[in-house]
Amino acid sequence: MRRWISGLLLVSFSGAAMAAGEDRGKLWWGHVQVLASDAYEGRGTGKPGYDRAADYVIGQFRALGLQPAGTDGYKQPIAFVEQVILPQDSSARLIGPQGETPLATPGDIIFSGGGGPAPERVSAPLVFAGYGLHLPEAGHDDFAGLDLKGKIVVVVSGGPATISGALKSHARSERAPWLAKQGALGLIQLVTPGQVEIPWERRMALASQPALFYRDAALRDTVRPFLNAQIDPARSALLFAGSGHDFAAISAAADRSAPVPGFPLVQRLDATVAARRSDLSSPNLIAVMPGTDPALKSQYVVLSAHLDGYGVGTPIKGDAIYNGALDNASGVASLLEIARALRDGKVKPRRSILFAIVTAEEKGLLGSRYFAQRPTVPQKRIVADLNFDMALPIFPLTSVTPIGYDQSSLGRVAAAVSADMSLPIVPDPFPDRNVFIRSDQYSFIRAGVPALFFKYGFRAGTPEAEVEKAWRANIYHSPRDDANQPVMPDQSVKLNDYVAAVTLRVANAPERPEWNRDSFFRRFAK
Ligand SMILES: [Zn+2]
Repeated sequence: MRRWISGLLLVSFSGAAMAAGEDRGKLWWGHVQVLASDAYEGRGTGKPGYDRAADYVIGQFRALGLQPAGTDGYKQPIAFVEQVILPQDSSARLIGPQGETPLATPGDIIFSGGGGPAPERVSAPLVFAGYGLHLPEAGHDDFAGLDLKGKIVVVVSGGPATISGALKSHARSERAPWLAKQGALGLIQLVTPGQVEIPWERRMALASQPALFYRDAALRDTVRPFLNAQIDPARSALLFAGSGHDFAAISAAADRSAPVPGFPLVQRLDATVAARRSDLSSPNLIAVMPGTDPALKSQYVVLSAHLDGYGVGTPIKGDAIYNGALDNASGVASLLEIARALRDGKVKPRRSILFAIVTAEEKGLLGSRYFAQRPTVPQKRIVADLNFDMALPIFPLTSVTPIGYDQSSLGRVAAAVSADMSLPIVPDPFPDRNVFIRSDQYSFIRAGVPALFFKYGFRAGTPEAEVEKAWRANIYHSPRDDANQPVMPDQSVKLNDYVAAVTLRVANAPERPEWNRDSFFRRFAK
């Protein structure tokens, strides 16, 4: 007899009630093909293509027998302000003892429109703050001793190797709100040439996309106007002219994770930022599969994935639709297929499973943050978040990287499933990429909820790492992320089964998941 729940799971996911693996792959890929087709116009937040995609998802929720759990049926509408930066009508120059240096807009400097309203004009001294990490609890504070009030703060990406990737990521995500509270007027983020992940040309194209912030000012990062900017790595040396420091040396240090001290710069930035603003609304989609246990069903395991994409943008090779197939129609498809697997499986979830297909992730995790702060079920009853975003089924799944597995008891659940399914856990090979704050699970973490974010495992320096790197360089956030790329649906079925097994174990365990004693993120636990 199979007495182990895990044994039952493996049986149930391959049992007669379930379609064969190949067919299940086709079902998953079918959702991706629909949602990533040109008819959905890249599912830009607030755009008609997103709303059509939402209708498709709601149709699937209904067909799966999931119950509505939004504020308006399956929907949880969110009010946003769209802010489009107009670089052609903006201007920027550096003013220092040696004179003025114009910065091309567009070209040398990119203003971003997220977080809150951009200032119409700002003229302020610059101060360089090294890695820009405020982590006094880790004995590290790049801002210590620097005068930030009334300044525009310049930081370089990276950080000391002795601080965990999760902690550094957290500090970066809290940085702009924290600086605004200190009276800083803006933040310029530099990357070293060695850190470049997306080429500058593509960054500029992406910056022409509309940004969003909440119409409700209480939810915004920065309430007063705050400048958010990036500078072309090839032009970043200009900021340091006359300071006695040079960007090449700073870059070399940052690339080695060596100490990068801060100092006041001798120039000021004088900028005008032209922007167009308008109101829009876009919904999260929330559905529930009620738990079977009379007591535990009032608790919720959230499965999340973002539905929004980059919409229609700057054409690349004549294609203006950023279809978002792997980022993240694939994740939405996984949630739908996990719902099917849980519905058809022999072991039923005792806690309720909440499917949160969220909006505005690409605009700064706004849909999930809204949900995590204003959930449609009691916040304290959300026990975990398991997130899918760009799992990249472009090489065989031989191991799994559940980002955050070293932070909570969810990591032990994942390890047990890994042992069952012979899919070992491998650590994130590139912790400095910030993936821990780059997707929706982070919104739940900030609200105190233990979370995992599932990635195909691979190690640095392997052929898989090359495939992944090439995908990020050439396809990520471009019109080429469509349904005409080689993808392995059968491998997606494997990861879906893995996450379904994690979901069931979490849903059926007597105790709810807990942050590890030594986890930094435990502080947010409610
Ligand atoms: Zn994504």
